[in-house]
Formats: sequence, C-alpha cells, structure tokens
Amino acid sequence: MTLSTLETASPALDLERIRADFPILDQEVNGHPLVYLDNAASTQKPAAVIDAIGHLYRHDYANVHRGVHELSHRATEAYEQARGKVARLLGIGDEGEFVWTKGTTEGLNLIAYTWGQANIRAGDEILLSVMDHHSNLVPWQLLAQRTGAKLRFLDIDGEGRLDLSALDDLLTERTKLVSIAHISNALGTINPVTEIAAKAHAVGAVMVVDGAQSAPHLPVDVPSLGADFYAFSGHKMCGPTGSGGLWGRREVLEAMPPFHGGGDMIDFVELESSTYAPLPLKFEAGTPNIAGAVGLGAAADYLASVGREAILAHERHLMAYALERIAEVPDLTVYGPRDPAARSGVVSFTLGDVHPHDIATILDGEGIAVRAGHHCCQPLMRRLCVPATARASFYLYSGTDDVDRLIDALHKARAVFGY
Ligand code: PMP
Repeated sequence: MTLSTLETASPALDLERIRADFPILDQEVNGHPLVYLDNAASTQKPAAVIDAIGHLYRHDYANVHRGVHELSHRATEAYEQARGKVARLLGIGDEGEFVWTKGTTEGLNLIAYTWGQANIRAGDEILLSVMDHHSNLVPWQLLAQRTGAKLRFLDIDGEGRLDLSALDDLLTERTKLVSIAHISNALGTINPVTEIAAKAHAVGAVMVVDGAQSAPHLPVDVPSLGADFYAFSGHKMCGPTGSGGLWGRREVLEAMPPFHGGGDMIDFVELESSTYAPLPLKFEAGTPNIAGAVGLGAAADYLASVGREAILAHERHLMAYALERIAEVPDLTVYGPRDPAARSGVVSFTLGDVHPHDIATILDGEGIAVRAGHHCCQPLMRRLCVPATARASFYLYSGTDDVDRLIDALHKARAVFGY
C-alpha cells in the first residue's frame, strides 16, 4: 500500500463523533491540542463510563450479594449485569467462567498461585516467551522458585515475531503450562495463540493467554481461542482502573483451590474449615470493586455499540498509515512486524542514539503523549539490544491526523538532536 492509494480518512468509524464521546481529549497540552498516543499503557474513558460510575454512586450504591434492602439489590443487579455485558463482549457464554479481577496482573497471579501450586512440581517446565510483559514473567518465576520447576522461553525473529520453529522442541511431556501474550505491548506483534494452544494441549499442558492488549483491540471470542485461561484489564479498554477479568474453562476452575479467602467466596464456614461458593464467587473474596465492574460493563456496551470489527478495521488502517509515514523519518528504527496486519495498536521506535525519554519529552512539548522506557519488558529490551524504546499506541479515537502530528514532531526532534 502506498500513500497515494491509502485513504487518510478511515472508512470504518465516525472519528469526530467518537472523539466527542471522550471529554479528556478536548484540551490543550503545552499550548497544543492533545494527541494521546499512550493507549497501550491505559486508555481514556468515554462519558458513558464516567456517567455510569457517577450514577451508581449517586443513586444505587451499597454492598453487593449481602443486603436485603433495595439499594443492595440494585447494586447487586448492576454488578452482575456488568459481568454479563463484559462476558458477552468477549464471547463468554458461561458467566461462571468469568472471574472479576483488578486486571491482567491479578489474573495471572491467581493462576500461578492456585492452579500452579496445585499442579506444578520440581522438574516440570513452564514455557513463556522473551517478549512477555513482567506480569507474565514474574508470577511464573515466583512459582518456579517455590516448586523447583524450570522456565523455558520462545525467542523472537528479526521482525519481533515469535520464532515458532523451536516450539516443537520446547514442548515436551515435562511442559505443564504455556503462557503467552496475545499481543505484545512493546512490539504490537499478534501472536498465534490458537496454534500454540493446540500444540500445548497435545503434550498435556495448560494454555494461558495474556489478553491485556488483545481484549481492547481484537474482536476476541475468548472460548474459541482454544486456551484454558485468558486474563485482561478493564483500564486498557475504556474501563476504570482496578477492573478486569479472568476467564477459565469451567472444569479447570472447578478443580482449582481458591485464591484469596474471605467473605463472598464461601458456602459454609466452620472454625477449622470451610466449603466454597460455586463459580465464579469462589475466586471473588471480599467486597469487590463494584463501581469498577459497573464502569467496565458500560465500557463493554460502548465498545459493542461502536462495533468491534469497525474498531479493528479502523486500527488496521491507521497502523498501515503510521508504518508508512514513520518510514519517511530518517534515522528512525521501528521494531515489530513490517506487515501492518500482523500487529496491533503499537509502534515502537528509537531515533539514532537519542534516549527515548528525550524523544518523549520533545513530543510532550508538542502536546503529544507517548511512552518511553522498557514497557515492563526488560528481557525483550535486552534481546533487542536497546535500553528502551519510544512507543506510540493507538485506540479507536486515534486518527491519521494524530499520526501526522507525531511525524511533524519527530522531524523537530531530529533537528533538536542535530540529525
Ligand atoms: N500484559 C501486557 C501485555 C500488558 O500490556 C500489560 C499492561 N501494560 C499487562 C500484562 C499488565 O496489565 P495490568 O497492569 O493492567 O495488570
């Protein structure tokens, strides 16, 4: 695709209307209209989400699952309806398989502590990849330290794609668990998790998908990915911070011991022992993040109303445009797959030997918010032989005009640093 053939206006979304839904976008930063390109870290919230949280606290708030009074009924209904909304968005038919968490990190730790502690023994192997986020590395490191299991890693190729040629050798009868990011937050690479899950199952391993970056960007039908677990964060998909979920196959969740003990997760408690509530409450101890769930439910409604396929088409178009325009900037190295359809949401880059923090500071002066650093992927940065990258990341309200502003500012940054 060339610039002459690539329409600059996305055919998929009414961008003006979408942007009007996000109050925070309508402001100047450092004297320039804000361009928010830090969506892989966290996304902005539409008025529908902000209003749903406000409405709950103004009219319907009380603790859930306990009271017999009207407000507790209303809060419980809003909370459980939200579970249904998010489950439906992700294709999850059985709401018992949907556990509220405070995000991807908590979901992955839940698996490591409960499934891991019950199933992993000394000498077992856990397969991860060098591109994984610290949230999908450290919980397994801790599990390996507690149990004597061994961690193994898929490498990447020169374009930042998983090197699957080693997969058959890495998967053996010792492999008990495979956990891979669906989309890399540092490179944008979309990983073939369904293919990996099939191979993991063939050796009897359980497959975990870190869905932090795919739940927001791809029209994922979670159960049909063929995995056993899928963890995601609400704040990366227009929902509030501290909201998120973990999907697990019912028979796997049923067989797992609970995570946290406390109120709500029990059936019958005696002084010395207890029996546990049915799924999903068995994994939801204590007063939950009620407003977070309600807000994420509103976010799910919002994303469904815009259309998951339309968001994907819009972002694909934007990625193609961004990759093409960024290639115009001399001295820039772009990481990740060259094919725009093989990546999602993220463009990571370095400019000569300028530290990415300095690039981000110049861009901030132009009103453009990007991330610079290791993106919680220190092993990946070492693998790429860079201390850090600058990262522009998109969402449904991003447009080609944002990319144009980024490119203009990168030209300015080159001039500042004497390129
Ligand atoms: N995995 C990936 C791929 C991520 O991008 C992130 C967030 N940057 C996480 C896990 C952790 O998500 P959270 O901090 O919301 O728990």
